[in-house]
Amino acid sequence: MSEKPNSYLPILADNMTTPQLTETDRRTLDEKVVYPWEDVSVSRSPKTFLTRGEGIYVYDNAGNRLIDGPGGMWCVNVGHGKTEIAEAIAEQAMTLGYVSPWSFGMDHTLRLTQRLAAYTPGDLNHVFYTTCGSTAVDSALRFMFFYNNCRGLPDKKQIIARRDGYHGSTFLGASCSGKTEDKSNMDMAKGLVHHISNPKPLNRPHDMTVEVFCDRLVAELEEKILELGPLSVGAFIAEPVLGSGGVVVPPPGYHQRTLEVCRKHDVLYISDEVVTAFGRLGSMFASEEIYGIVPDMITTAKGLTSGYVPMGALFISDRLLDELRELSVDHTYFTNGFTYSGHPVAVRAAETNLDIIEAERLLEHVREVGPYFQQRLGELAELDVVWEVRGEGLMAAVECTLDSNNPDEARDSEFALIVDRISQENGLIVRPVYNSCVMSPPLTITREEIDQLVDILRCALEEASAEVGPGN
Ligand code: PLP
Repeated sequence: MSEKPNSYLPILADNMTTPQLTETDRRTLDEKVVYPWEDVSVSRSPKTFLTRGEGIYVYDNAGNRLIDGPGGMWCVNVGHGKTEIAEAIAEQAMTLGYVSPWSFGMDHTLRLTQRLAAYTPGDLNHVFYTTCGSTAVDSALRFMFFYNNCRGLPDKKQIIARRDGYHGSTFLGASCSGKTEDKSNMDMAKGLVHHISNPKPLNRPHDMTVEVFCDRLVAELEEKILELGPLSVGAFIAEPVLGSGGVVVPPPGYHQRTLEVCRKHDVLYISDEVVTAFGRLGSMFASEEIYGIVPDMITTAKGLTSGYVPMGALFISDRLLDELRELSVDHTYFTNGFTYSGHPVAVRAAETNLDIIEAERLLEHVREVGPYFQQRLGELAELDVVWEVRGEGLMAAVECTLDSNNPDEARDSEFALIVDRISQENGLIVRPVYNSCVMSPPLTITREEIDQLVDILRCALEEASAEVGPGN
């Protein structure tokens, strides 16, 4: 077993200035919060409370320094503690804290829009600002409904999504998400969303090549459109890399071929880049630069403000809006919007976030350290409990199984939780997705910090294996 990397053991923060709650108060008050994805039937173990962050690190209330492996939730792209963002937020809040997007505009919003449109693929030059990723997804789907209604195609509304995809927590977004476990005891939009296969190459039959697997996936999409009828299918929604589904990179050619099928049948292609946009894979948007596609709409959030304040954005192609403008339909109001669409404070955070990505050359940095990150994590595949290591850029999954001939999601997810606990004791946050330890650290991560992250994860995998191994 590898020696525990002593130098990586949690380091105590020296500047904890905020008065702390007592442990008893914290526990009592914490009971009153209903957290996302909480099992309300059992009382949960207390959460770790965080007090501050700096770069790739966060500090807990005991003062321990932890590497933020998931980058918050795939969102803290420029890293923690960026005073420039804090200052821009403060300046805007003090100057003008709110502007109604129904009635007024702001130069900062236009400047941000111009900058974003310069980065988007093809003709996706129109921006609809939202409050988060779920509302961006919801807005994209509602735009598809609206677009087809205006075109006189009221039946063209069905949506095709993928199993294990994740598209958010609003009614429509959750209905598109493809994890069956997340749907128990929850209602979904009935008969509206149809799920096709997760494009995970590891799932293919042992004797099937990746090329044939890709042919099957593309054929499955077309068969689904034909089965439902092209006049009934409005959109296909897909993450370029399935994030919460366990960092699934589809086979080469998959994105372009699925887009061709959509174009052939007049089905809008929505690329859900809530995780992959703003540098995660070394480009502002992954759709075109990495996967060679110009979709009809792109949804984003997270890295748009690096999580400092909530914000999302939906990018819509000029083609769709031009088409609507040319139809002489009365009352073409897109009756969709949020009080906080393009909130001034979020706009300033997004502008400054872009400044940092550009000034620190973070896209180039990700392209430089991404292969090293994948290579170092890839070395963990030599451990018996590691089934597969996969990823792209600074997004990766280390999928665990105690028996690759007999994978068992419940058992292997329990194992990943043990890895999570041990990692955190040693200074790394993991927060596994089922049986996969997913990693999406801040884009500023250095080679040395990648080494720290991988060393801690290796130790945790080894210790967890010893804990569940024979005789334990
Ligand atoms: N789409 C994708 C691909 C996501 O990963 C997420 C969140 O993780 C969402 C949509 C929903 O975003 P939010 O949680 O900001 O509403």
